[in-house]
Amino acid sequence: MERWPIGVFASIDAGLGVRLEVAAELGVTTIQLHAPHKAHRTPAEADRFLERLAQLGLQITAVFGGFDGESYADIPTVAKTVGLVPPATRAARLQEMKEISDFARRLGVSAVGLHLGFVPHDTADPLYGEVIEVTRRLCDHCQANSQTVHLETGQETADALLRFLGDVKRDNLFVNFDPANMILYGAGEPIPALEKLGPYVRSVHCKDGRWAANPGQEWGVETPLGEGDVGMERFLATLKKLGYFGPLTIEREIPQEPERQKAEIGSAISLLNRLKEKLLAN
Ligand code: MG
Repeated sequence: MERWPIGVFASIDAGLGVRLEVAAELGVTTIQLHAPHKAHRTPAEADRFLERLAQLGLQITAVFGGFDGESYADIPTVAKTVGLVPPATRAARLQEMKEISDFARRLGVSAVGLHLGFVPHDTADPLYGEVIEVTRRLCDHCQANSQTVHLETGQETADALLRFLGDVKRDNLFVNFDPANMILYGAGEPIPALEKLGPYVRSVHCKDGRWAANPGQEWGVETPLGEGDVGMERFLATLKKLGYFGPLTIEREIPQEPERQKAEIGSAISLLNRLKEKLLAN
């Protein structure tokens, strides 16, 4: 198996990724797929979708869940609307994640990812226990589908996420490490966080960004890969040190500007190929 196959985050009818045709035109071999809406998650749609992927030469390495009603407008809005944390939508969203897991299984995909939402920092908060419980239920459903669950990073510091993973106590629960999110959310320096979370990292996003003036209060700014504060060479060198050679999935979350999105992902692919050549030479 190729080490560090390059991928992109792709969407069919939902999410911030590129269209499948664009992924194919960019010449990548893997995608992470934002789960389509319910109408497109039928077994017949899955089979048709698999045919299309085969034609385009693309392999899905993870399916990411997302929900109607989520908003990333600002950090407080994320806390109120994103993932399985908000109580009002939790039961319905857990059900939807289980359906997404079943759809992913039909596609032959063994990893399901999501933004869980802001986990309370106070472990005595009853909400903390509720989030542990809903995460266990999702993990158990995915376990029955022979799948791992990958939590997107950024909302929590590495230490808080480690504590949460330990408290959930499910051995199919892992991390999708997004170094830019650590910066954008103000959750800590990405490279030390990656080192701490290393044993749990089963997939990564290659995304870049700059720190906000008031990290954690307001968003940082996402940038083209290599132009932000992550330090992509250090990021890949750390992945190598940790023994991670799985897919490098590029995210560039500007779907409102598809031409620019495609061009900047093209540049990101060139950057990653240069770094791969340098870092995998020996
Ligand atoms: Mg990400």
